[in-house]
Amino acid sequence: MPFVNIAQQKEVVSFEQAVLAPIGENRGIYFPQNIEKLDKGMFASKDFNTIAVETLYTLTSGELSKEQLKGMINRAFNFPLNVQSLTSRLHVLELFHGPTLAFKDFGARFLAECMAHFNKEKATIVTATSGDTGAAVAHAFHGQPNIDVVILYPDGKISKEQEQLFCTLGDNIRTIKVKGDFDDCQSLVKQAFNDKDVRQTLNVNSANSINIARLVAQVCYYTALPALIDTPIDRLIVPSGNFGNLTAAMIAKSMGAPIGHLVAATNKNDTVPRFFINKQWRPKATQRTLSNAMDVSQPNNFARILYHYQENLDKLFEDMSAVCINEIQTRRTIRHYTQQHYPVDPHTAVGLEAATLPFKSENSNDLVVATAHPAKFADVLEKILQEPIERPSSITDAMQETNLSESMDNDFDDFKDYLLGLNTSNQ
Ligand SMILES: *Cc1c(COP(=O)(O)O)cnc(C)c1O
Repeated sequence: MPFVNIAQQKEVVSFEQAVLAPIGENRGIYFPQNIEKLDKGMFASKDFNTIAVETLYTLTSGELSKEQLKGMINRAFNFPLNVQSLTSRLHVLELFHGPTLAFKDFGARFLAECMAHFNKEKATIVTATSGDTGAAVAHAFHGQPNIDVVILYPDGKISKEQEQLFCTLGDNIRTIKVKGDFDDCQSLVKQAFNDKDVRQTLNVNSANSINIARLVAQVCYYTALPALIDTPIDRLIVPSGNFGNLTAAMIAKSMGAPIGHLVAATNKNDTVPRFFINKQWRPKATQRTLSNAMDVSQPNNFARILYHYQENLDKLFEDMSAVCINEIQTRRTIRHYTQQHYPVDPHTAVGLEAATLPFKSENSNDLVVATAHPAKFADVLEKILQEPIERPSSITDAMQETNLSESMDNDFDDFKDYLLGLNTSNQ
């Protein structure tokens, strides 16, 4: 039984249970009960898939066989990932070569594999997106039999490219634009999970980064770092919003991956950087920024990080830092790297800017996580750069399609009616 409910630590469940019911008693989310170190020799492997199988086998305590995992990983991670070295000390881990051009393809595609493996009855996935989850989940589940997907996103607060990538698919994918921000969407989803009528009528599941399958999938590219870059990493800088990606990096570090210090880079939604300064958790209203997928003021995954360090909070402040990057810095960084012929999206720019901050020691080998392809934010970049950005065909094709989204107020009763109505329309 490898996963513990962090809000109700007596509740310990299997990987299958945590995947199929991602929220436990007391609205708690799950975390590995023990994080075992990978065999040292494993880090010498130069093969991403080999390390990924070993990582997931260890994290799920052997619940899935290595053979099964191998198949799931080959299908889910069927796109390249690589490290670009911008200087001898500054490297970029490009996680955006999947079908929807953001790192969320890793988690969403592995989750789809897990659902296909474990799910025996018709299920409805209800999820909120601040931009990129929606596309990744929609593409990962599009056409999967027995699974309906409902995606909520904040109206007018994501880029046109992002929206077109997931609101045009149709079939088993339904999209709703909510008059509110991402935290409102997330709250509607949480309420749906806690609603008796909804739970009795639909077999609901979430594809958010709270689902443990997404989290463990993301650990793989961090444990596989030695296969991607020859030098150990002194500082790993992760552009962060809901803090799933940083939590995955923390788990990889605990498994023995050669990662020194972790740096969370946020935009001006800076609940965590302020927590690192004054040790107080004081979320403010969410603010809109250029890096919209990180416009989160109450990051769900931070509770997992606190759980991991519960015995020794001082160690948290030793192992990690958190910095907040403002919009002026983000724009400047986008211009700077475009001039260097390495255009970056606004999220990656937040990470790159954080890498320049003064706590850097001279010889530090820094790795910044590039979370999205620049073309996914082409409209944003073009406004800043006043020059056209090249778009891959996956984007130009999606821009031609009809947007199928419905509009909704930020009102749980409306959302509940919608969900209950789904069931009738399916029968
Ligand atoms: C989701 C997202 C983030 C934030 O990741 P978290 O795991 O939520 O911290 C950063 N950049 C991009 C492009 C994203 O889509």
